[in-house]
Amino acid sequence: MNKNLHKLFVISSPSGGGKTSLLKAFFEDQRAKEITMSISYTTRDRRDGDLEGKDYFFISEKDFLKKQKNGDFIETANVFGNLYGTDKNFIYSELQSSDVILELDWQGAESIKKLFSDAFLISLIPPSYDDLENRLRGRASDSDDIISKRLSQSRKEVSKCLGFDFLILNDEFDRALKDLKDIIFNNLDIMSFKSRVSSELTKYLLDLTK
Ligand code: 5GP
Repeated sequence: MNKNLHKLFVISSPSGGGKTSLLKAFFEDQRAKEITMSISYTTRDRRDGDLEGKDYFFISEKDFLKKQKNGDFIETANVFGNLYGTDKNFIYSELQSSDVILELDWQGAESIKKLFSDAFLISLIPPSYDDLENRLRGRASDSDDIISKRLSQSRKEVSKCLGFDFLILNDEFDRALKDLKDIIFNNLDIMSFKSRVSSELTKYLLDLTK
């Protein structure tokens, strides 16, 4: 990656991990004004409250595949049967002038790390699987079928997210927000970030994947 480019951060969490609300609060901070949030393309149906061009660009599968064939995406993933993609030109051009944050699933995070080895991968780790399930069930916009699908994948997602550069424990909103701000605004490197995800929690979360 060109040294003059700005920093690229990828934030992921298992489904229901709470990254959308955390990022919303993050961008309310004045210091985040200089940072660009990428807006993905998706074929998923809009949920109540989703805004076109703010949360996502909602497009048909046909249009998505056309854009994919054109090479318009820097990465794409199929997440729970819907397609998601990150706009390639947007990312390269924004990185000329500002730091950029991508909110992606773990597959997207892995693809970005292959392209930008100095991208910072940040993941939100739940304190337990019950916590994840409660968040998913609390999001009334998803059907039971979708919630079950997401829950059945959550162990794999957690184990992938545990391999990221920065692990933020998402137990309390304010503490998780502080950790996110420390990483991004204070330029913390991996060695100086004191993750609150303990080795016991990691072991507990991974043991359950067996
Ligand atoms: P949701 O449909 O709940 O907004 O997002 C489902 C998952 O897709 C989340 O983990 C979200 O971070 C991820 N996602 C959103 N946009 C993209 C994208 O452009 N690429 C990838 N790989 N994942 C995305």
